[in-house]
Amino acid sequence: MTYDGIIIGAGHNGLILQAYLCRAGLDVVSIDRCEVSGGGLATIENSRQPGFRHDTHAVFHRALNTMPWYRDLELERRGAEYIEPELNVAMLLEDGRTLEWWTDLDRTAESFARLSAADAATLRRWHDDFVPIAEKILIPEATSPPLPRAQRRTILENSPEGRKLLEVSALSPLQFVRREFEHPAIQAGLLFFNGLREVDMRVEGFGHHIAFLLASPAKAQLCRGGAAQLARALDNAVMEAGGVIRTSTTPKRIIVENGRATGIETTEGEVIRARKFVASSLDPHQTFLELIEKEALPAPWRKMAREFEYNLLAPLFSLNLCLDEAPKYTAAGYPEQIDRAFMVIAGLDHVDQYSEIIRHHEAGTIPPTVMWGTCPTRFDPSQAPDGKHTAFMWEKLPYALNGDPTGWDAIKDMHGEAMLSTWTRYAPNLADAVIDRFTRSPLDVERDFPNMRRGDLLIGAFTNGQIGADRPFAGAGRYRGHIEGLYVCGSSSHPGGNITGLPGYNAAQVVLDDFGIEADWTPPPIASRLTAL
Ligand SMILES: Cc1cc2nc3c(=O)[nH]c(=O)nc-3n(C[C@H](O)[C@H](O)[C@H](O)COP(=O)(O)OP(=O)(O)OC[C@H]3O[C@@H](n4cnc5c(N)ncnc54)[C@H](O)[C@@H]3O)c2cc1C
Repeated sequence: MTYDGIIIGAGHNGLILQAYLCRAGLDVVSIDRCEVSGGGLATIENSRQPGFRHDTHAVFHRALNTMPWYRDLELERRGAEYIEPELNVAMLLEDGRTLEWWTDLDRTAESFARLSAADAATLRRWHDDFVPIAEKILIPEATSPPLPRAQRRTILENSPEGRKLLEVSALSPLQFVRREFEHPAIQAGLLFFNGLREVDMRVEGFGHHIAFLLASPAKAQLCRGGAAQLARALDNAVMEAGGVIRTSTTPKRIIVENGRATGIETTEGEVIRARKFVASSLDPHQTFLELIEKEALPAPWRKMAREFEYNLLAPLFSLNLCLDEAPKYTAAGYPEQIDRAFMVIAGLDHVDQYSEIIRHHEAGTIPPTVMWGTCPTRFDPSQAPDGKHTAFMWEKLPYALNGDPTGWDAIKDMHGEAMLSTWTRYAPNLADAVIDRFTRSPLDVERDFPNMRRGDLLIGAFTNGQIGADRPFAGAGRYRGHIEGLYVCGSSSHPGGNITGLPGYNAAQVVLDDFGIEADWTPPPIASRLTAL
């Protein structure tokens, strides 16, 4: 078979790229080793408990329905729908108090004020200062192919918003939080969000991330029917535009002829040809080292791919429950409304806990439990049989347990039991409500999706060398992969992982531009937008 283009990996980034290219008239196939497309947009039905559906990967989708591709690809019309609970996040403190993030800033500030009036004022100040920076710089940057680092700095230095951003960015998230906020639980809560986005809180260059979170209108949302509903809507967008999605198809190699990527050979020996391009949404190790023959790629590129780093703190362990009733957080006298919180964080009280968590990750051992999760069926009853519920908790745990990831297979159920007993301390009714449960370890994540190497669900650390135009590494940061006709479009590219769809969206801008195809949806070039500030 011959197509204009082949996309390896039909996760959401691959599908978004494919949908845009097919709508522009290209004939594109995506291939995926799994039986279903969607990657991290995965919803499974419990095989022992029919009717109970679990999202085994991405659940909290940040402001998905405001994404440009969500609108352009008309995903709502194709079956996606989002719920945004008002009490977006609640952090349960040991003493019965809570720290709350609401969709309404005033209510969030009230909650901060119950712990520290000074911190509530700081929250408002950073919110107000950063709203224009988010709107004029950070959001446009995330939705555009990135500028080279030096050019970006030069442009930003010319505007007050740009200078403010550069000044805050120079800090690490930890330095920012310690400098600006006083209450240890508030500091811990803010760094938790930073950690959720997997930015190493110790690394300078990322101090603006927390201010951005404070200013961002983007709140956590739940996909009605489960995350896979978004994947099915994306499938529809691709197929309605004439695209082909081939699941259970694994590439053995990317064919490179006369310095051009011209197709792939599958592990079954089938050859699929590409007239114009091959795009990979996988991690750099698979794309550049495993799928491209050594002779086809210069040694410096192989070296950069080899040295690409994954997040130490990203891997997640999950405990998933089928329940007779939803968790009731009554243990320490939490206010009743906490049961309406979308994301619940438990076990985190003080900023100093992070150093302990990092130490355990470095040693490959299990830290004291800090966990977070939700009960999706409180907001979307369709995910369980009538009157029943699902719930889960995640915990950040090391990939290589005592140096060996396979160690998880022997102890994961035991660890799940320990997590359940901690969870029950906060929500005592769980003691009698559990119908069934299962756990998934960081190794299970990598087994399902080998691109989430070492269980890194963001598919690449955010360090100074791996961001913006240098993500995944210098030379490949604008979605082009050295070999003519080769592109990259997954979470290892700007702006990174999570369900944002932006690597795929930005890659579509580059591919269409390279092939001289005009698209009415592309935003104006980022350099001109930033220069205009
Ligand atoms: C436990 C867990 C919880 C998470 N929770 C959230 C959350 O709440 N919110 C959020 O935004 N994000 C969350 N994430 C992260 C999110 O799932 C990923 O960052 C996101 O899916 C990355 O999207 P992608 O399209 O780049 O890659 P993926 O979704 O990983 O898609 C890549 C695709 O490539 C395929 N593939 C891999 N290797 C090959 C190969 N060799 N050949 C062919 N196909 C291949 C895979 O099968 C997959 O379909 C979570 C992840 C995990 C593991």
